[in-house]
Amino acid sequence: MIGTRLDQIDAPRLLRSRYGWWFLGNNTWTLLSADSLSGDGSIGPTAQTFLEESGALEPRVPQLFSLTVLTTTTCNLGCGYCFQNTALDPTGGHKPLRIHPRRLEPSTVERIVAFTRERMNQSGLDGLFLMLFGGEPLLNPRGCLEMLRQANGIGLTTAMITTNGVLLSSDLAIDWKPPACVQGK
Ligand code: SF4
Repeated sequence: MIGTRLDQIDAPRLLRSRYGWWFLGNNTWTLLSADSLSGDGSIGPTAQTFLEESGALEPRVPQLFSLTVLTTTTCNLGCGYCFQNTALDPTGGHKPLRIHPRRLEPSTVERIVAFTRERMNQSGLDGLFLMLFGGEPLLNPRGCLEMLRQANGIGLTTAMITTNGVLLSSDLAIDWKPPACVQGK
């Protein structure tokens, strides 16, 4: 193996130091000895093996934009500690007064996606992590699915839903094909 020329790697840099060469890779950086480079600028076989085994030559891991969407403010439970309670149940029961009920509508999904696309472009981020949140998101399954569908068009890599799980059925799970992960609460 002759070695890898720097211009054949995605976006690495080498910085000379008094101790050798700092290799700044896509996901990590490491120090190479001063004799790691040959005359034509190639990385020698010993250094190349070291870089390969340390993962320094791996492609860049997508940089994720993290987005949390409240799909509804309503819930089918009434946990006393919920941050969406505004007061105790005036009847002394288990239905505390809640914040104003709102649902995620398709027109709002379009605005969220446009906003997110713009922010991702501004930040140079190429992947999207989406958290579906509530209230109880499964009270608005159409809103969740529409959010997932449109998020797929702007680089969705991971989706999670924070749910109390009461309404989670096998039929619903079958419909949710994107890379979703359910998180209990
Ligand atoms: S399940 Fe979650 S959203 Fe619903 S009342 Fe309890 S803490 Fe609040």
